[in-house]
Amino acid sequence: MEVWIVANYELNLAHLYGNLLNTYGDNGNLLTLNYYAKQMGIEIHSEIVSIYQAFDPDKYDFVFIGGGQDYEQVIVSKDIQDKKEDLTKYIENDGVILSICGGYQLLGHYYIGANGEKIDGIGALDHYTLSQDNHRFIGDIEIHNEEFGETYYGFENHNGRTFLGEGERPLGTIVKGNGNNGEDQGEGVIYKNVYGSYFHGPILARNKTLAVRLLHTALKNKYGEEVELPELP
Ligand code: GLN
Repeated sequence: MEVWIVANYELNLAHLYGNLLNTYGDNGNLLTLNYYAKQMGIEIHSEIVSIYQAFDPDKYDFVFIGGGQDYEQVIVSKDIQDKKEDLTKYIENDGVILSICGGYQLLGHYYIGANGEKIDGIGALDHYTLSQDNHRFIGDIEIHNEEFGETYYGFENHNGRTFLGEGERPLGTIVKGNGNNGEDQGEGVIYKNVYGSYFHGPILARNKTLAVRLLHTALKNKYGEEVELPELP
């Protein structure tokens, strides 16, 4: 029998375009997050915020956005422009976001799809993503984050080659695999409390320390820096 700790904390989570962006089981990140959160005494209330729905930047403590195929990304690209202002406000107010692959690309300026079409992002983050000819980065990937002293494991499958811009640093340095662009040894992004990555797998199921880091950051935002941070047993 599993025994859960009674919830002492609550977090509101927006699953952005959860019904459209979900490649390689990215939604599993939410199952994982819930699983850890319960053991830490955190109750997560999550809801999908999708096309034609407003994103309220003051309502949420956590935002998750998954990856997608180019087809879905084109649909999301159009709608997300209406949420640009509110998402940017949320980000600049230090809101926590985990964004994967296609979602990560759309937070930046643009993504050139496999067919050469330009798929606009919201430019809330300064990166841009180019295409590659008849090639994708596919395979197991491992990165190391020097600042946190943590190693993350995942699986990448993307056409896009992302180049970071101002204020952005990579989530980690490549130990194995291709990462953002196959050139500069970086994978993913950290900007304020926004995390982006090409890791499927899903990333949180394979990287517990990252899940706890995100939950702790969201708790500090909501309950204040002095909050007693629950550890994952
Ligand atoms: N369509 C994008 C690419 O190929 C994102 C893929 C994904 O989210 N897995 O780069």
